[in-house]
Amino acid sequence: MTDFDAYRLTEYVPNHLGFGGLDRDALTRDAHHNPHEFLHGNVASALITPHWQYRGLFAGEAEQHGKPEPIFLAATEAAGLVAPHRQLIYLGKRADAAEARYLFALDVSDLPEERLASQFSQQSYFAELREIGPMIDGRDGSVMAYARAMLYWHYRHIYCGRCGQKTIVQKLGHQRKCGSASCGEMHFPRTDPAVIMLVRDGERVLLGRQAIWPEGMYSTLAGFVEPGETIEHATAREVYEEVGVQVGDIRYQHSQPWPFPSSLMLGLHAKALSTELQINHDEIEDAQWFTRDELLNFEAQGKFLPRQLSISRRLIDDWLYQR
Ligand SMILES: [Zn+2]
Repeated sequence: MTDFDAYRLTEYVPNHLGFGGLDRDALTRDAHHNPHEFLHGNVASALITPHWQYRGLFAGEAEQHGKPEPIFLAATEAAGLVAPHRQLIYLGKRADAAEARYLFALDVSDLPEERLASQFSQQSYFAELREIGPMIDGRDGSVMAYARAMLYWHYRHIYCGRCGQKTIVQKLGHQRKCGSASCGEMHFPRTDPAVIMLVRDGERVLLGRQAIWPEGMYSTLAGFVEPGETIEHATAREVYEEVGVQVGDIRYQHSQPWPFPSSLMLGLHAKALSTELQINHDEIEDAQWFTRDELLNFEAQGKFLPRQLSISRRLIDDWLYQR
């Protein structure tokens, strides 16, 4: 199954950073442990995306060369960078060429920036996906999002959270096991679910803003799902906590990986059961009900919506244009 595409199984159009154009190849992961050994055995078909302090390597700047593209180095090109002490993660198989390519993420954060600059061409640079994400292709973006999230998880699980001993990489970077024989705790990559919701009241919707956002920007409300809570409960709780509105008819729409550092945004629509706003200023600066006409003329009021490709914008646009 080298061309597995999860989206063939669903009718959803994935959000940006969530295209999943990669076979995650769990069978291979389960059959091996050390990613360095696995790379060594597949050098001819391996591609490596180096990351420096959670920044991926890209080529081409938007203004000069069109959209930036992530750089995937052939294993031979990256040979000087791959070392046993550097975190290496097998991401999965890409089958867009005649022959499957094995993709790896490599952390090179320990190398000084000057040394790295000399390794690559002048047109390449390390950049934060959060800033560059909207400019890059969705499939590439999803691979970079995946790599970033995995590297972040590894660096927070070098030591066992149960006994404090060092952990050992297993399953090609998809599991860490405590090195203490008396403990042996297994650690798995984690994703933190967050709900993001568009609340409707007939022909108007509820949008809010946080004080740290650019002036004039309004977006959907959002918050983390807490332990022991359902998605529906988290949605109703967050809206009530932030603006005092009660909601029902909560319906899941679509999701977006948000690896900054490790969230999964679950997008929902909900219907307001009460409309009076009691804004919790500890959480948000402002919230208002906006009609369709107001949103269609948002700029004239000195306001704007979140950028295209964000899940919040899609939730709003789905309602605005009745898609
Ligand atoms: Zn332990």
